[in-house]
Order: sequence, then C-alpha cells, then structure tokens
Amino acid sequence: MTETWRSLGGENIWLPYTQMKMAAEPLLAVATEGSRIRLADGRELIDGVSSWWTACHGYNHPHILAAMREQLDRMPHVMFGGINHEPALRLAKRLAAVTPGDLNHVLFVDSGSVAIEAAMKMAVQYWLNQGEEKRLKFISFRNGYHGDTMGCMSLCDPELEMYERFGDYMPRQIIADLPVDDKSTAKFTDILYREQGGIAAVVIEPLVQGVGGMKFHHVVALRRVADLCAKHKVLLIADEIFTGFGRTGSMFACDQAGVVPDIMCLGKALSACTVTLAAVVARQHVFDAFWSDDPKKALMHGPTYMANPLACAAANASLDVFESEPRLEQAQRMENILREGLASCRSQGDVLDVRSKGAIGVVQINGKLDHRKLRAEFIEQGVWVRSWGDHIYLTPALNIDQEDLERLINAVCEIVRQ
Ligand SMILES: *Cc1c(COP(=O)(O)O)cnc(C)c1O
Repeated sequence: MTETWRSLGGENIWLPYTQMKMAAEPLLAVATEGSRIRLADGRELIDGVSSWWTACHGYNHPHILAAMREQLDRMPHVMFGGINHEPALRLAKRLAAVTPGDLNHVLFVDSGSVAIEAAMKMAVQYWLNQGEEKRLKFISFRNGYHGDTMGCMSLCDPELEMYERFGDYMPRQIIADLPVDDKSTAKFTDILYREQGGIAAVVIEPLVQGVGGMKFHHVVALRRVADLCAKHKVLLIADEIFTGFGRTGSMFACDQAGVVPDIMCLGKALSACTVTLAAVVARQHVFDAFWSDDPKKALMHGPTYMANPLACAAANASLDVFESEPRLEQAQRMENILREGLASCRSQGDVLDVRSKGAIGVVQINGKLDHRKLRAEFIEQGVWVRSWGDHIYLTPALNIDQEDLERLINAVCEIVRQ
C-alpha cells in the first residue's frame, strides 16, 4: 500500500488540510457504487460521509451517469460568454422553480467557495448600484464556515483552527452569535443598529452549521435573522451549500423556516457527486438592481468553466431523481433512525451530546479526538466515517439502505464505547 501510493504520485501530491510531514497515508479508491467505496486492495467501505456531502443519491446513480454519458459525447464543455446551452438554461429554470419565493436568477460558478465570493460581490454591488457606497462589510455567525478562499475565510468563525493564523490578511467582518435567545437577539439587533449603513449582507448557514461543528439551530432563530435583516434593510445570504438538496429533510433548510433569503448559494450535492458545480441564486429585486443602461452596473463575474454542460447535465438528472424517488422522505426518516441508533452513545462518560437532523447524525465528545486513531479504527470496521474537531458525524447518502446505515451507526457506537 505504502509503495503503491508513493509510486503512483504520492510524493507529488499536496493533501487537503494536512500537515504533510505527519500525514497518515490516504486510502486508494478505485471504484464507487451506491454507498460503497472500493479500495485498491480489494476492501470495500460503507461510506458514512457521502464524499463531503455531495452524494445525495449515493454513488453512480444510473440515471445521472446515463445523462452525463450522453452529454459527454456531444459537448463536455463550451465557454459560457456569448454562448449558452440547453443543459444550463434548463437547470436555471428548474432551480428557479425549486428554490423558494422569487429566487429566480441563477449565476453558475465552479465551486462552493466561488459561489460565496460571487454572492459577496453581488451584495456589495447591489448597494453600489443604488448609490450606497459604504456597505462593504458582512455579518456572519460564530461556528460558521463558508469556504476556503479569502472572502469566504473572512466570514468563517475566526476560531476555526483552519484559518486562525490568517487574521491580518483577511478583510474584517463582524462575527455575531446566532440570535437563539433574548440575550443574543438583543446583541445581534445592537450590531445591526450600530453598523447601520455599513453592512452589505448577513451570511448564514441555515439550520445546520456544518464544518464549524455540525451545530443545529431552531427554525425560529433562522426566521429571526431573516426578519431582522428585512427590518434593518440588509441583504440575507443563505449558504445552503451543505444543507441544500435534502440533507436536512427538506429540499432546502430555508423551506422549513419559510424563509426566502435575498441570495442563496448552492453547491456540493447540486451535481450529485459527479463533477464540480455551484450556483448563486438571486431574488428578483437583487437582479433588478443590476438591470440598467449603465454597463458599469453589470455583475462582473464569470469563471472559465462556469455552467459546465457536463455538470449541468448531472444536476438536471439529479433533479429528475429527486422527482422520481422518495429522497426527501428517506432523509426525514433517517433523522429518527440516527437519533435512536446513536442514543446508546449517550451513556458514555465523555459524550457531551448526541443529535440528528435529517440525514445528519452527530456524537459530540468532551475534548479533542484522536482523528488518526479513529480513522484507522473505523476502517478496521469496514466503514468510512469522519471525525472533526470534537465530534464524529454520519452524513450518508440519503438513500443508503437500512443494513448499511445500521452498520455505520453500530460502528460509531462501538468506537465511542471503546
Ligand atoms: C463546503 C462548503 C463551502 C465551500 O464549498 P467548496 O465547493 O468546497 O468551495 C461553503 N459553505 C459551506 C456551508 C460548505 O459546507
């Protein structure tokens, strides 16, 4: 295994979020199917992560692969400047229909981080175009995560280990506590009063903060954020890159709160674990602020591979599958299965909390975890499960079969018990 990884190019690879000198050797995957990852040495792992939350229908869904094959032979890519194509147009129309309210205008980009960057530019320019030149700051929330590029990093919780050293390099934003009770609501409202006229938008991961700790908040808190944004006339950007496409039990987390953000960012499961695609969806009034005889008021954003036809074909096929298969019901059912299954972890001394929301199950531990050791133990049990910070989480494919889900849950319980 060692030889293979190194000889294949391991010496030349820079791994994500990894101290290369101390890096545990990655597994070598050769094939995926359903909820399984097959390794080069013949072992098969049950996937409890769904490849960073992208594989909403599991791996290699036949309908999605067929749509991509057809698109691949015809036109894997063409530039989007001055040329459009049916897969992107159809996808824009369908995203407008499936997202709440008048979120009707879709800008395609190539990754989640870029979607957030583009949404930030969109928010700032929304105000510039209306003569408000001082709205250059953003409010985001403690435990938030919004991506790895510079603008995104500035929105993340400054205590996230990943970026704490970059403080001086980044633009300064305002990091608030989520308004979950009277005290935090008063504080959040104060910020909105104090910074009036200087805020372009509030950015939130609705209902679930993913990377920052798999932390859940109530629909009431999300509604409160939306109401206060409307009241104080600042834009609301919902980062649904993790929560979108069924993960929390509804198509979008915002649906559960009846909230229509001004801008919604989509990524990850949008292209259902095939090729990278993300989107920024804007409401009518946001779009209207750019509609002008003045070329300077145009939105200046257009990644080279934007609206990649192959990715759009995959995303369209994924939406077909959402229509033809009971994906959302499966995600809703999983909430109880995860809660009841993981409940036995509760009795263990170091366990702080066990929680589930849709197809997300979390066991939070008091203190730091030895991720490397855990990883090896999970692999030993035949499962691919991630731990991060102080928690172990399960975010399987929404359609994982009962038996595999139970094996994931049992593996987590077993390892927590040890
Ligand atoms: C993953 C993620 C991003 C960044 O997306 P990339 O495609 O990795 O750039 C942004 N926001 C949230 C909430 C995410 O989970």
